[in-house]
Amino acid sequence: MVSVSEVVEEDSKYLMQSFSRWYPLVIDHAEGSLVYDIEGRVYIDMNAGIGVMALGHRNRKVLNAIQTQMEKFLHYSLTDFYYELAVRVAKRLTGFFPWSTKVFYTNSGTESVEASLKIARASTGRQYILGFINSFHGRTFGSMSFTSSKYVQRSMFSPLLPSTLLLPYPDKHNPLCRDDCSAEVISYLEDWVLNKVVDPNDVAAVLLEPIQGEGGVVVPPKDFLQQLRSLTRRHGILLILDEVQTGIGRTGKMFAFEHFSVDPDLVCLAKALGGGLPLGAVVGREELMDLPRGSHANTFGGNPLALAAAEVVLEEVPRLLDHVSEVGKAIADKLNDIKSPYVEEVRGLGLMLGVDLRKGGRPYPEGLSKVLLNSFRRGVLAIGAGESVVRLLPPLVIEEELAMKATKVIKEEIEQI
Ligand code: PMP
Repeated sequence: MVSVSEVVEEDSKYLMQSFSRWYPLVIDHAEGSLVYDIEGRVYIDMNAGIGVMALGHRNRKVLNAIQTQMEKFLHYSLTDFYYELAVRVAKRLTGFFPWSTKVFYTNSGTESVEASLKIARASTGRQYILGFINSFHGRTFGSMSFTSSKYVQRSMFSPLLPSTLLLPYPDKHNPLCRDDCSAEVISYLEDWVLNKVVDPNDVAAVLLEPIQGEGGVVVPPKDFLQQLRSLTRRHGILLILDEVQTGIGRTGKMFAFEHFSVDPDLVCLAKALGGGLPLGAVVGREELMDLPRGSHANTFGGNPLALAAAEVVLEEVPRLLDHVSEVGKAIADKLNDIKSPYVEEVRGLGLMLGVDLRKGGRPYPEGLSKVLLNSFRRGVLAIGAGESVVRLLPPLVIEEELAMKATKVIKEEIEQI
């Protein structure tokens, strides 16, 4: 039997080490909301493979659907051919949108964002795309041009996409903001950026996450998205929401935009959509989605196994939404009970939660590392976000009792620092 330390050592020999893990979890197998390592230890999964395993691990319905599809065919590109499963899943997906939409399939979040950028430029004939500081949209060149976080080394890869601008997100830790600063951000955009920097008629789209995930679970003020929607509409600018992390039930609604009562033009999806297999999608207003032939396509988008899993995900997740809200609230209540001078704020919606740790008002990454490592040692898998936010993204099916057991460990570890 190989040991945890052997795998970790070999991994560093044979794999590019461009990311940093919080702790040495070497997974052997998983079931429901539990993960087992190769030395037989068991962990409560409070991250779901970074927000992916919505229905938990080894969900029978997902496995059966994949198995059935596996016996038919594994791949046959949608770029040149047809299969009914692709249509069925698209029908189901568009059924969640109260306006007419069409779907383009991808294999990941970053590809969904890339596709949305191309669709926005092609369908408006405009060049500029505006994003927000502290957002995460992926690491390929287009999406990276709108990703700005300390841990994404933008400067190493410049030049990035031209005709882009990053705006301040309405986050109370933004030094220009005091509490709710959506009005300030909106007027900055309208009165300064669109008045003095770029002609609104050159702006194709504004791209943002309805809740910044990797940036630290930052929830914008309630009316911000609505104000942004009316501003974009006034100028014929498209609104692209990146719901790669927030979508598919994560926040207690099928899509986070429902919390804010806005109707985006393009929505980027991935993560939970494929039930653990690589699948992403752009869901866009019907009139935007007919690009000239050959302008956008891929070999693997809409892989049949991933679509078979997605069909189950899209059937099961709507039934889980109340559960997500209830368990999310129970976890948040417990987190709000933490007695520690380092807890700045508990944020999030549904089962997308963050505890912002700060020391003297500044991010406290050492505190975050300690909490994650010590929780891991006690059998709980959480991850970080932003500079020092403990982030919880458990499977949407997690039983309340298990979630509370894990939350208790995290609470105690935060109180220990
Ligand atoms: N957008 C958002 C909001 C994300 O959270 C992520 C991944 N964390 C991505 C895009 C990129 O997804 P992927 O890693 O599948 O390319």
